[in-house]
Amino acid sequence: MGRMLKALSPRLMETGPVDLAAAPSDANFKRGRDAEGVEWLLLDMPGRSVNVVDGSMLEELDAILSELEKSPPKALVIRSVKPSGFIVGADIKMFRDLKSAGEVEEALRRAHAVVDRLEKLSCPTVAVIHGNCLGGGLELALACKRRLAVGKAKLGFPEVMLGLHPGLGGTYRATELIDPAEAMQMMLTGKTKSARAAKRLGLVDAAIEERHVAAAVSAVAKGEVKSAASSGLMDKALSTGPGRRFAADRMRSKVAEKARKEHYPAPYALIELWQEHGGDRKAMQAGEIRSFASLLVTDTAQNLIRVFFLREGLKGEGAGKSGIGHVHVVGAGTMGGEIAAWCARSGMTATLEDLALAPIGKAMKSASRMLEKSLRDPLAIRDARDRLIPDPKGYGAAKADLIIEAVPEKLELKRTIYATLQEKMRPGAILATNTSSIPLEDLRAGLKEPGRFVGIHFFNPVSRMQLVEVVRHDQLSEETLKTTLAFVTDIERLPAPVASSPGFLVNRVLTPYLLEAMLLLDEGVAKEVIDEAAEEFGMPMGPVELMDNIGLDVGLAVAEELRGRLSTPIPEAPAWLRQKVEKGELGRKTGNGLYAYGKDGKPQKKKPEGGAARAELADRLVLPILNTSVACLREGVVKDEETLDGAMIFGTGFAPFRGGPMHYARSRGVDEVVKRLSELAEKHGERFRPDDGWSQLRRETREAA
Ligand code: NAD
Repeated sequence: MGRMLKALSPRLMETGPVDLAAAPSDANFKRGRDAEGVEWLLLDMPGRSVNVVDGSMLEELDAILSELEKSPPKALVIRSVKPSGFIVGADIKMFRDLKSAGEVEEALRRAHAVVDRLEKLSCPTVAVIHGNCLGGGLELALACKRRLAVGKAKLGFPEVMLGLHPGLGGTYRATELIDPAEAMQMMLTGKTKSARAAKRLGLVDAAIEERHVAAAVSAVAKGEVKSAASSGLMDKALSTGPGRRFAADRMRSKVAEKARKEHYPAPYALIELWQEHGGDRKAMQAGEIRSFASLLVTDTAQNLIRVFFLREGLKGEGAGKSGIGHVHVVGAGTMGGEIAAWCARSGMTATLEDLALAPIGKAMKSASRMLEKSLRDPLAIRDARDRLIPDPKGYGAAKADLIIEAVPEKLELKRTIYATLQEKMRPGAILATNTSSIPLEDLRAGLKEPGRFVGIHFFNPVSRMQLVEVVRHDQLSEETLKTTLAFVTDIERLPAPVASSPGFLVNRVLTPYLLEAMLLLDEGVAKEVIDEAAEEFGMPMGPVELMDNIGLDVGLAVAEELRGRLSTPIPEAPAWLRQKVEKGELGRKTGNGLYAYGKDGKPQKKKPEGGAARAELADRLVLPILNTSVACLREGVVKDEETLDGAMIFGTGFAPFRGGPMHYARSRGVDEVVKRLSELAEKHGERFRPDDGWSQLRRETREAA
């Protein structure tokens, strides 16, 4: 998709009568009226790679609309000339600066007035949509009388990911236009629709190719394009109060399976709004503005907006092109197979080497499944499959731009492999290791060009885990680091630069959390109660279930590896855990671990009994995460709190609505966290002793104030 759009240069786009080169460069909209009297408004916000909805754009649109009201064209076309798409949504920076609900309401009312004006324009209006048409962009398009989706357009309402719902008329225009249940589904899940799916729903009136845009616009101007939206039985059923109440209850219970109201209020607020006022345009509009404004100032929305920028920050680490076109992977096991497949999926040639044939065969099979599931388009799947090449003899090593070693975690084995590889590698190529625990300083010893050796630590499963730790060492060259970070963004993962210290960042911070859960089990606390305490805090999955997912063998090995090598204490794992591993009860992958697993692959959980001090339990689990985070900052494992918070959210799922461990510590209050840690240390032992990093943090906070 990205590739297709990049190939679509603005010159190949239908721009009607507008000569883009001659248009003023400081305006958001470029305009022109064609021979048929159709006014073309081409959106091309200066200095940006994408269009957004912001104050300046709406003001300009407002001025244009007042002109058009005086001298109405035969029809009005709104389209973007950015190759990236129509409009990606509201400018999220704006959301960070608005702090009081009253201020937000005021800004929204002004924005609504412009969109309402567009809707009321007497002539035919049409949004020509290519690429991303999201959030505020889709809301603007919905105020046009017709919508044409071009090529691989993607339409959706992603506001829910930011702890919001649509706020520019989307809640009522979408539910009025198409089956309200479908519209609500789009807004509640944030999932996008393809041009074809949008046409089926009636969200757009035609799905066309670029070469047909001029003809389609002309047909709209002549009134020849009918609305694709049709009101059906469903709309009638949902237009009554009881019908909507029934549907709303079902929506609520579906949402509740995924998100708790106290953590993520937005979907519940949207359902409430529609249940109360669905079908009543005026009440919906007033309610939408009120509800959006009150959501925007909640901690949840502000923290999720923070998460959006944390993601941008990590992406920014890998800015620029890596220039890597061929990746050679040595070791086709759990990690290597997936790494190679993921690189092939991202458009690179990936050769996959292993000592044995069986792991390569297995890796090729699971790669096929992953590609089918994640790409869907048969041609894209075929091309990605073609790019993944089984290479038992390791011929690819001589041609690759990057070699990733993913053989078992043994220092000598890895070093022997490097000795052979460095003779074969082409000049300038990078050698990387996927090691999770061996210090890079030990691995690089003996290399001819240690400057071109780096750690690229993927997480399992590669296709689902967004974070990749890029591990530095004392002799790594800046250029290699830069190329490696860019490579990680090239394959659509988020790079976090970390120092080569034991466990790097994510495993080190996660281990005390997982072990605390094991110690709680030892004390007789039910596993369901432990998991629920963590989920109530906001973790996507409790630590007991997570340990089963990671594999008891892997979790135990990491813990043993880290013990004694760090400035922060790692408690000893209970003996029964080792015994379980010896018996082969390894978690989900063997069907038994800390939980038993049913045929559906889900853990069999009993309803937890009693409300036994969940907050106390949550503190025992979560405060070690904060304490270790502070230690990692003190030691310089990561450069700042933003990188740490981003890495923990995208690497472990740490409660996103809390904004990350450090942000949570700061909002709870550093003094309060230190006090609680000291109390826990008195009660449960030295592992809770507050790290020295806290005093440094307090000092910095005082100085900043
Ligand atoms: P694995 O045992 O599943 O796979 C290793 C593969 O390497 C095997 O297929 C083996 O046949 C092959 N191999 C062994 N010697 C070789 C040689 N000389 N040449 C070519 N191939 C050889 O191991 P894994 O779990 O994929 O781990 C690989 C690396 O990734 C380790 O360093 C591990 O610490 C790290 N890692 C693992 C995970 C995880 O969750 N499994 C996560 C992150 C990092």
